[in-house]
Amino acid sequence: EKILDVKNIEKFYGTQDSLTKAINQISFSVDEGEFVGVMGPSGSGKTTLLNCISTIDRVTSGHILINNQDITTLKGSQLSAFRRNELGFIFQDFNLLDTLTAFENIALALTIQKVKPSEVEAQVNEVAKRLEIEDVLQKYPYQMSGGQKQRVASARALVHNPSLILADEPTGALDSKSSRMLLESMEKLNKEWNATIMMVTHDAFTASYAERILFIKDGKIFNELHRGEDTRKE
Ligand code: ADP
Ligand code: ADP
Repeated sequence: EKILDVKNIEKFYGTQDSLTKAINQISFSVDEGEFVGVMGPSGSGKTTLLNCISTIDRVTSGHILINNQDITTLKGSQLSAFRRNELGFIFQDFNLLDTLTAFENIALALTIQKVKPSEVEAQVNEVAKRLEIEDVLQKYPYQMSGGQKQRVASARALVHNPSLILADEPTGALDSKSSRMLLESMEKLNKEWNATIMMVTHDAFTASYAERILFIKDGKIFNELHRGEDTRKE
């Protein structure tokens, strides 16, 4: 089943005289349970593509369907409700709130939706168990390592069971050991929890964790690679 269907989108910045075609006709789709990477050099349009899919930015033309819903036609409060319910985000800089514990950070997506406290606790505990961060739930971000913070951020992206998880350079701020741990936990969530993930990166090692990689340059997809079971080298 298709979770994401990107149909011939374009995104232009600037005016007629100095037009930047950040996205120049891109189409692809992502099925439920896929882990897709989008890889390309700086300035190739990765952030713009992700921003259009995450409803932060508007496409100039074309359509984006998420769970059969055309997000390019949504407005205002519909958009924010859609983002809250259907999408999960993993950012490069974690975006954890410093004044909240790990538990509270993870729970936020649920408490905003007025989920019952007992249910919030059950859901947070389940996702924490899967990501092996049960022992940091009562800590504040400044008390956690980079890898722990990133896994708390992953837990927050997942706790409301979104249709699609979007990750923007998730390893960009991590050393190689923490990167590996984060990518392994993302892989686990994908394999064991059937989470659908789209990840944008310029880093080949990071991209190698995706099952399918779309290569983008100058706002276009120019190649696509499917990873075999054992092509990744340690
Ligand atoms: P990255 O390479 O990590 O994707 P960029 O430096 O390309 O980051 O972009 C960071 C942010 O700045 C993005 O939100 C992007 O939309 C914005 N941005 C990039 N280029 C420009 C530009 N020429 N003018 C205005 N904003 C830009
Ligand atoms: P990447 O994420 O791959 O580094 P971006 O999506 O940030 O690429 O940028 C793609 C192109 O669009 C670049 O030429 C960038 O300068 C331009 N761009 C991105 N955001 C803006 C913006 N807000 N205003 C003008 N140009 C932008």
